[in-house]
Amino acid sequence: MALTGIQIFKMLPKTNCGECGIPTCLAFAMKVAAAQTEIGECPYVSDEVKEQIEEASAPPIRTVKIGGGEHIFATGGETCLFRHEKRFEHETGIAVLVDTAMTDEAVSGRLARFNSLRYERVGVLLKADLVTVKDAQGDVGSFMALVKRVLTQCADAKLILISDHVDTLTAAVQECGVRKPLIYGATLDNAAAFAKIGQASGCAVGVKGSSVDDAVSISEKLLAAGLKDLVIDTGARTVRAVFEDNVLARRAAVKAKFKPLGFPTITFPCEISDDFLLETMVASVLIAKYAGIVVLSDLQGETLFPLLLERLNIFTDPRRPMVVQEDIYPVNGPDDNSPVLLTCNFSLTYFIVSGEIEGSKIPSWLLIKDTEGLSVLTAWAAGKFGADMIAKFMKKSGILTKVKHRDLIIPGYLASLKGELEEELPEWRITIGPREAGHLPAFLKRWQAS
Ligand code: SF4
Repeated sequence: MALTGIQIFKMLPKTNCGECGIPTCLAFAMKVAAAQTEIGECPYVSDEVKEQIEEASAPPIRTVKIGGGEHIFATGGETCLFRHEKRFEHETGIAVLVDTAMTDEAVSGRLARFNSLRYERVGVLLKADLVTVKDAQGDVGSFMALVKRVLTQCADAKLILISDHVDTLTAAVQECGVRKPLIYGATLDNAAAFAKIGQASGCAVGVKGSSVDDAVSISEKLLAAGLKDLVIDTGARTVRAVFEDNVLARRAAVKAKFKPLGFPTITFPCEISDDFLLETMVASVLIAKYAGIVVLSDLQGETLFPLLLERLNIFTDPRRPMVVQEDIYPVNGPDDNSPVLLTCNFSLTYFIVSGEIEGSKIPSWLLIKDTEGLSVLTAWAAGKFGADMIAKFMKKSGILTKVKHRDLIIPGYLASLKGELEEELPEWRITIGPREAGHLPAFLKRWQAS
């Protein structure tokens, strides 16, 4: 059972030295209990206590990491069945498959699309995460050549290596070095050999079951051999069966604390349908319902982008709005005559407003006031976007040193604040901007001409 903050506090040195980045041991203990920081951040806790706390506070689905250095993909770490209960911790990994039976041209196309299909939305980079390299011919030479090619051509890809030959995987793992791949797939017959590579390399091991029961038996064998990082495939290859197995595994781990299934799952939409659109729809079902990784046969912009957006929606924390930092943002290279606009720090508002200003091609200063992620009207209604607060922010923001004029454009929805703001900022002329961001380009052109 998870430890409470007070139980953790009793095991800390209680010196309040602050070296963990938190001023007191009690505050640190509360954060560890809430899974907002890790016990390892305190340098004075003994290994024994660390292990005890980590064990007690570990999530029912273990967090498994693939990769190394700056490029690590984490999956699992989940603690609940439904997003509204808390939040989902780690996004489903999207992987593309290349295998040794493919033509050179086909491999190049998939790797090129892995590198190029990247999108920025609300300040977040959306992209596929992993490349799955499969030994389709049981030939170590062609497999090693393909692994080297992926390592060279896809600098930030995390790798999943699939082979039935443990020696081939051992050689490929050495080639990967610090970019520790996930090695797949351990069966009941070869579990001992997989446990050996997993332990020697520190790589996570993929369980290749033929049913839930079989996956449980393999998982138990690997756990008994001392492995900690597993990813489970129950062997299901229809959308209904994978869906059911994913739900069963999540419920068994979260509700019954059943350890052999307390790991993220790997699923293969690429083996469920030959129709690429249907494969994408299967992937979307599995992203919504508990897949740790989905392996796709290819990446195409028109199908990858919706999957990435679905994933973004499901895995954002429902308790915290997405925000941008309070600051002055230059758009289109402004100078000291450029207009000054103000809005809230709700991510979506920021990206819509800055996008419209950018599209207008008019150099501008965009002031973003911290409203704790609330939109303009909600922030105003909640007392977080009042005239006194805006005035205080304007004074400390540094905008006075960036422009010669004293004209401030505020959102149309804050029109009622004009009088109060003029009192708070007597040297500024307050202009009411449009209510809709889409009207900003025309508004700015008129402002510039006036
Ligand atoms: S580093 Fe350890 S001892 Fe120091 S304040 Fe943090 S928890 Fe307490």
